Amino acid sequence: MSVAALGKIVWVLGIVAWYVIRYPFERRAKRVQVVSSQRSRVEIFGLVSALLGLAVIPGCYVATGTPEVADHPAPLWAVVVGGIIFAIAVWVFRRTHKALGRNWSITLEIRDKHKMVTGGPYAFIRHPMYTSFMLMGLGQAFLLSNWVGGLAGLLGFSILFFLRVDKEERMMLEIFGPQYRDYMARTKRLVPYLY
Ligand code: SAH
Repeated sequence: MSVAALGKIVWVLGIVAWYVIRYPFERRAKRVQVVSSQRSRVEIFGLVSALLGLAVIPGCYVATGTPEVADHPAPLWAVVVGGIIFAIAVWVFRRTHKALGRNWSITLEIRDKHKMVTGGPYAFIRHPMYTSFMLMGLGQAFLLSNWVGGLAGLLGFSILFFLRVDKEERMMLEIFGPQYRDYMARTKRLVPYLY
């Protein structure tokens, strides 16, 4: 088997692991009432960008090899590094879901009896789930030896992140007020101590 093919297989396994973690939360989330929602056009554009970049574009590349002109060499170290980063991403993703519990949502929503979570990974950063998506995108870039299929994840998710993060924090501030303000003062957004 070629190294490029190995990278593709590891990426597919990572996506499957990701979905196995996510699925029960999506099912449960449907049963919790949404009190306030901010599903704007901008938000939907961001969600579509992230979905295209992290799933559809790399999925097409893995299945069909297009766009072939964007292929680049696949060293084994890149696949190893990509696999490790992807595994960390999935682990962080799982921890954020456990910590958020019923407060989880795919978009900007406040649920019935929404509680502010500051435990687990949320003790260090405000957006650990977004950190996990950035890590997934980075892992994808190392695993897929194609400029388009590889880099689409980081790009697509960054679009969602930068369109959403200010709004999300404003929404949390409106609802939780000084409690969230204090929390913001002692945490960073994505990377502990840095950003
Ligand atoms: N930005 C967070 C959560 C993503 S899920 C992260 O990256 O980990 C998006 C939903 O989480 C939003 O609807 C918002 O209402 C909710 N949310 C964000 N931060 C939260 C927190 N600290 N406690 C509870 N809910 C939170």
